Amino acid sequence: MAISIHPSVDNGVKQGKGDFTGGTLTCKCSSNPVVVTLKGQTAHNHVCGCTKCWKPSGALFSMVAVIPRDQVSVTQNEQKLKVVDSNAAIQRYACQECGVHMYGRIENKNHPFYGLDFVHTELSKDDGWSAPEFAAFVSSIIESGADPKEMGAVRSRLKELGLEPYDCLSPALMDAIATHIAKQSGVLRA
Ligand SMILES: [Zn+2]
Ligand SMILES: [Zn+2]
Repeated sequence: MAISIHPSVDNGVKQGKGDFTGGTLTCKCSSNPVVVTLKGQTAHNHVCGCTKCWKPSGALFSMVAVIPRDQVSVTQNEQKLKVVDSNAAIQRYACQECGVHMYGRIENKNHPFYGLDFVHTELSKDDGWSAPEFAAFVSSIIESGADPKEMGAVRSRLKELGLEPYDCLSPALMDAIATHIAKQSGVLRA
């Protein structure tokens, strides 16, 4: 049986465009959809196996990228959005009707990723968003019901797609988090 990582990568990873300047995300409601406007290109796009990110049905992974929060605005039907879990570090704003997460925001100014919102560019018809670069929290798909015996096949498929599998974030992002913490504690000079 073929493994579906995510519909946006199952037929191969599509590269982004260098001169891309943004577009809109639309939820899955057939009437009065929520629309979020992104005024710029995304970064650090990846597939994520954690249990918190929104995944399309049948996918083992979500696909999620970041963008500066000042480039994100809700331009239609904001009243349909509600925070999924207000105790989570990332406040994920979901459409209450179709369940799609439209953006995730960090309000804790000390968080390493403060200032960046999390978005799913598969919700856009615009072409050119940054391509996924790696797979994060791969082992966590077991927590959502994936068969532990399938993990070898899942990791092989991710490698085949050019999405290096990690069981946390990528080394570059883990280093960025550790650098932030070391500067906060004074171990590294800010
Ligand atoms: Zn909706
Ligand atoms: Zn995730």
